Amino acid sequence: MALSHLADNLEALAEQGLYRSRRVIASPQGIKLNIDGKSIVNFCSNDYLGLANHPKVVQAFKAAVDVYGVGSGSAHLICGHSIAHHALEEELADFTGRDRALLFSTGYMANIGVIAALLGRSDSVFEDRLNHASLLDGGLMSGARFKRYGHGNMSELSAKLDNATGNKLIVTDGVFSMDGDFAPLDKLAVTAKQHDAWLMVDDAHGFGVIGEHGGGIVEHYGLSQDEVPILMGTLGKGFGTFGAFVAGSELLIETLIQKARTYIYTTALPAAVAEATRASLKIVIAETWRRDKLQKLAERFSLGAAQLGLTLMHSVSAIQPVLIGDSQRAVNLSHELLKAGFLVSAIRPPTVPQGSARLRVTFSALHEEQQVDQLLDALEKILLSA
Ligand SMILES: *Cc1c(COP(=O)(O)O)cnc(C)c1O
Repeated sequence: MALSHLADNLEALAEQGLYRSRRVIASPQGIKLNIDGKSIVNFCSNDYLGLANHPKVVQAFKAAVDVYGVGSGSAHLICGHSIAHHALEEELADFTGRDRALLFSTGYMANIGVIAALLGRSDSVFEDRLNHASLLDGGLMSGARFKRYGHGNMSELSAKLDNATGNKLIVTDGVFSMDGDFAPLDKLAVTAKQHDAWLMVDDAHGFGVIGEHGGGIVEHYGLSQDEVPILMGTLGKGFGTFGAFVAGSELLIETLIQKARTYIYTTALPAAVAEATRASLKIVIAETWRRDKLQKLAERFSLGAAQLGLTLMHSVSAIQPVLIGDSQRAVNLSHELLKAGFLVSAIRPPTVPQGSARLRVTFSALHEEQQVDQLLDALEKILLSA
C-alpha cells in the first residue's frame, strides 16, 4: 500500500508550524532538565508541587516494588487490585470528602470511561468549548447528543439545557489546562441543580495544587459531593506520580465498576505507583508551603510579564500562558528560549483554538524567584526583539 499521502499530510503540518516532535530527556523530572547534555531550566512541567522525584515518594515506590513487584498482572476486576490500590482509594475518598474513590490507569481513560458509562444515545452532554481533549472524546464516544457552550458562558449553557431531553451531564475542566483560569464551578453547580443535570469536573490541574489543603477546585469553591457529584482528579501532575481517580457517591462508583469500559478492560496501575501516590498525598496535605510558593511565583511572573507588555491569559494559577497567536512564531520563540536555557513549550492548534498559539509557562514549587526573573529577562530579549 502506498502511504505517500501520509507524507503530504506531514509536510502540510510542518508548513503550518504544527509539526510535533519529542525532546529526549536524560534526567528525572525537576526544575533542571538535562537535554542534549545541557542543563535547562524547566518551565513546562505539570509537576507543580515538585513531587515527581521527591525522595519520600521515590522511597515509597522502591519499598513497594519489594513487596508487590512491578506489574499488576491484570485488570482490577480480575486479580490486579492490591491492598495498596485499595488503601489509596480510601485515602482519596477521605481527602476529597467523597463517599468513595475509584482508581483509573490514566486521566484520559477515566474521562472516557465515566462519560460513556453514564450516558447513552437518548442523553445529552454539555461541554465547555475549552475542555480538555479527553473530555471531548468521552462525550463523543458516549453517543449522547454533544453540545458545546462558549467558555464559561452560563446563559448559553442554560439555554441549551432548557432544550435538552434525557439525562443531562455538564462536564468541565476545573482549572483550564491551556489557559490556567478556573471554571465558574459555583455557578455551574447552581445551573446543574436548576436543570436537574449532573455535574462532572476534571480537576487535573487543580488537585493538590489549589485550595488551602490542596483539595483542588471543589475546595476552592467549597462544593460538596451533592453539588459536584462527579469529581475526577489526576495523579500524574500535582501529585507527581501517575494515574487518576474518580470520586463520588457509592452509587456512582459501583456503576463505574460495572460499566466503565476503560476501567474494566485495562491493566491496573502498578501497586508501587499507588504506594508512591500515598506518600505524595501525605506531602500534599502537610506541606502547604508548596502551594503558597507556587502562588507567589505565578504572581511574580504575571506582574513582570504585564510590565513587559506581554499578553497573558486571565490566570491566577500556576499555568501562566503568554499569548503569541501565530503557530510558527510560537515555535520559533520556544526554540530561542531553549537556546537561552529555558524549556517552555509552544502550544498550538488543535490543542488551543486557531490563531491562539501560546507559550505555556508553568511553575513548580521548586523554582526560585531568581529563575522567574531570569525567564522574564529572556522573554524580554527574545520576544521583544523578534
Ligand atoms: C492531563 C489531563 C488529562 C489526562 O490525564 P492523564 O492522567 O495524563 O491521562 C485529563 N484532563 C485534563 C484537563 C488534563 O490536563
